[in-house]
Amino acid sequence: MISALMPNYNRADLAFERGEGAWLFTADGRRFLDFGAGIATSSLGHGHPGLTRAIAEQAARVMHVSNLYRIPQAETLAARLVEHSFGDSVFFCNSGAEANEGMVKMIRKTMAENGHPERWRIICFDGAFHGRTLAMISATGNPNYIKGFGPPVDGFDHVPFNNLNALRDAIGPETAGIIVEPIQGEGGIRSASPDFLPGLRAACDEFGILLGLDEIQTGMGRTGKLFAYEWSGITPDVMSLAKGLGGGFPVGAVVATEAVARNIRPGTHGTTFGGNPLAATAGNAVLDAMLAPGFLESVATRAVALRRDLEALAADYPSVIEEVRGQGLLLGLKLTVPNTAMQAACVEQGLLTVAAGDNVLRLAPPLIVTAEDCAAAIMMLRRAVIALSEPKVAAQ
Ligand SMILES: *Cc1c(COP(=O)(O)O)cnc(C)c1O
Repeated sequence: MISALMPNYNRADLAFERGEGAWLFTADGRRFLDFGAGIATSSLGHGHPGLTRAIAEQAARVMHVSNLYRIPQAETLAARLVEHSFGDSVFFCNSGAEANEGMVKMIRKTMAENGHPERWRIICFDGAFHGRTLAMISATGNPNYIKGFGPPVDGFDHVPFNNLNALRDAIGPETAGIIVEPIQGEGGIRSASPDFLPGLRAACDEFGILLGLDEIQTGMGRTGKLFAYEWSGITPDVMSLAKGLGGGFPVGAVVATEAVARNIRPGTHGTTFGGNPLAATAGNAVLDAMLAPGFLESVATRAVALRRDLEALAADYPSVIEEVRGQGLLLGLKLTVPNTAMQAACVEQGLLTVAAGDNVLRLAPPLIVTAEDCAAAIMMLRRAVIALSEPKVAAQ
């Protein structure tokens, strides 16, 4: 008989009762070091006092009123995201896929309002991941996600990642914009090369099209800056956020320049839950922590040390770890053994990680991870690698 929960996930046989910092605890008393952070989402770890108190207090006051009314918590959160980004205006929603849908609609609408309704196609990249809605599985462009769901939604063209020549060749009279992850997360922690985002910006300016960044995984401090584009020296026209923005509470957002946002007039786009008092309170509590003096610097410091230790581990076991990838606390180990086998070996040692494409094991700890946590993770990774590289002893 089918399980009551639909069988669309490959779940590990683990259930957590509570968490504290970077650690999760099962009901039977086992503890696990969480270097997956619920897929780069529990940005402040588990049981963060500021975040949990803010949510509890707001839940007791008022959770939801709808966007028929002003929502001061959302006004504050939007103003803070604007102050700390390229953007002028923010739309709130509830997930990453929904944020990307909004971003695509904003790009198309801006082109239409600027007298170019024929420009509606979006260029995306091989290996990208943009979510699971009908349009976003087409933007993602991986046949595995599309199969069986009817014809792909039209309007998404794919070119190889990190190839500016291919990108420029793909821009046509119907192109409205480009959507790209600064680091492909699900695709295997593949970073844009240093000239790639500046090259995309230049191409967008030359052809009069818009640059959209999917910072759902790379944003909110993950790379050691609030947004990953800050490393590139360029700014986009529009950016999607989710995952770490609510620290585990579902919040998505689209941040846009005024030139884009002014086209999203009343009635053009919307969502019932988006930016409700509870969600916006969660976002504000996350920003309270992330904008506190020293927070992002400590992410960067932790990241440098963790990467150094991972490089040393890779040097010790080149037959298992081919390469260390990524930036900040979004790191990947490109493996020679199956990443799912390594993931299982890590669970045996008490370490939670996330598999990614390209046979990569993803490490995305909460941004509050301590030096001791990182040292423990390295030890567990080492043991997992040793367990995997030992020849199997035949059972007696
Ligand atoms: C997770 C993710 C999404 C989809 O977010 P959901 O909240 O699962 O809809 C989109 N883009 C990127 C880069 C992501 O990492």
